[in-house]
Amino acid sequence: ADYEFDYKAKPSEYDWSKKYPELSSELKEGERIKVQVADVGCGYGGLTVSLSQTLPDKVILGMEIRAKVVEYVEGRIEKLREDNKEKKLYRNISVIKTNSMKLMPNFFEKGQLEKIFFLFPDPHFKKANHKRRIISPTLLAEYAYIMSIGGLAYFISDVQELYEWMFAHFKSHPLFQQIDKDLALSDPCVPLIVNSSEEARKVNRIEGKKWYAVFKRISNPSEK
Ligand code: SAM
Repeated sequence: ADYEFDYKAKPSEYDWSKKYPELSSELKEGERIKVQVADVGCGYGGLTVSLSQTLPDKVILGMEIRAKVVEYVEGRIEKLREDNKEKKLYRNISVIKTNSMKLMPNFFEKGQLEKIFFLFPDPHFKKANHKRRIISPTLLAEYAYIMSIGGLAYFISDVQELYEWMFAHFKSHPLFQQIDKDLALSDPCVPLIVNSSEEARKVNRIEGKKWYAVFKRISNPSEK
């Protein structure tokens, strides 16, 4: 149940300083830490960790529902920070235990996220369980709300049916527009979604196939 998660009614009430202690100690007066990048269902944190150096000026958050997995990622980040103290690396990444299907708007304000990643989400194969999928019209509306105009959503799966499901939902949503495949190839985050996460590596080991796409958050056509 949600009482097991540490969250606030409003994003502005959440204290990020405990998640990014070094960054927060360097803030000027009146400044607050603002997460700009979310790795939804981050698992063991392979992408979150890789993003740290690919996007060194961004504040990055892994979000994961399993307590034991979150603990592992916390330990992993702590050790990376400790081992790279002099170089001041890995200060911009953290992880939170949460249910991303319910609590995203409690963490992020309207227009806050510049990038959101959905890497190898659980397929929930049975039709009766499709409502538990991390991409749905309702959830896409929520993701659109917390994303900035021009922000990018990345998704990848080794399950073709799930990929097609996610693609169809993004494609038919009025606030998202697909980024051309060739253009996506010049995005430094694309190689990371294909190869950096633990699930991606698992698929590589069995030489499995992967399908991915990138969509841009566009402004509401009716607002123009
Ligand atoms: N993205 C990681 C990767 O590529 O290695 C993990 C992929 S794993 C198949 C899916 C992850 O999503 C699991 O770690 C699972 O616990 C997490 N997850 C499932 N539902 C979630 C939810 N509602 N909120 C947050 N995380 C969730």
